[in-house]
Formats: sequence, structure tokens, C-alpha cells
Amino acid sequence: MRPRITVVAPSRIKPLEIPEFTTIWQFKDIDISHFLDLARGQCRADKVVEALSNGVKSPTVYVLDCDGYYPGLNFVFGLAVPVLKTAVVFTARLVGPRFEERLVKEITHEAGHLYGLAHCANPSCVMYFSNSLLDTDRKSPYFCPKCREKLARIL
Ligand SMILES: [Zn+2]
Ligand SMILES: [Zn+2]
Repeated sequence: MRPRITVVAPSRIKPLEIPEFTTIWQFKDIDISHFLDLARGQCRADKVVEALSNGVKSPTVYVLDCDGYYPGLNFVFGLAVPVLKTAVVFTARLVGPRFEERLVKEITHEAGHLYGLAHCANPSCVMYFSNSLLDTDRKSPYFCPKCREKLARIL
């Protein structure tokens, strides 16, 4: 059986099939203005996750229409904090004709972290760390056999 996640996304986004997870989609236009670092024009990922984790009881991935960063990194596509059962995925860098496919991969990646998976060295595994959009486009929306096995042991 597939593990479950909740995805909370802006209302403009249509629910997408996430092959690795049974997904409950919720739509909420979250006001991100108070998470925005005005000098950088980006949201600080860990602060957003912390704030959005309030009341979260099961693995939840928030999709936010902004760009994210983390101290020491110019940008991040997303961030998961497993202990808070909460992750974010930022859409700003995913735009283009492959937007939906990219979003599915990034949601799956962060949800994988929420279920305890680490980064994977296999470039076609969804748990491969994306340094660039090229990495995201190259990887599949699926776990590799090793990650699938790890997840089965965790569940
Ligand atoms: Zn990651
Ligand atoms: Zn893997």
C-alpha cells in the first residue's frame, strides 16, 4: 500500500497524480508576505516550514508560489522537516512546459524525506538531490529499488 500524504497547494493548481503516494489535495492561498525576505525576494524555507507545521498531524507538503532559500544556499526547490511532519515546495523555479511533472517530482522528493528517506546517489531516483532544474528533469517521479526497500522497512 502506498503511504499517505496531504498536499496543500494554491487554488490555481490542479490536483496531480503522485504515483508514489496516496494523496489528499487541499487548496489554500497562503499569505506568504510575512515569510518573504524583501531584500532577497525569497522565502526562508525553514521559517516557513516551522510556521506552517502548526497543527499538522500527518505528513503534509505545502506548495508555495514563491522562491525559497536556506542559509548557505542561494535557493532550494523545497525543504522537509520530518520531526514536524511538514515540508514545503517552492514553485518559482519550476515554471515552464514541464511544470506539473516537476511539481510532482519535488512533492514526492520532500514527502520521501518526511517518511525518513535520505538523498540517493541514483540520478533517476526521485530522492536524488536536485542542484538544478536539469537534475529535476532528468530524474523520474519514482523511488529506485533501494529507496523503495528502505521505505518498506520504515513503514
Ligand atoms: Zn532532499
Ligand atoms: Zn533511490
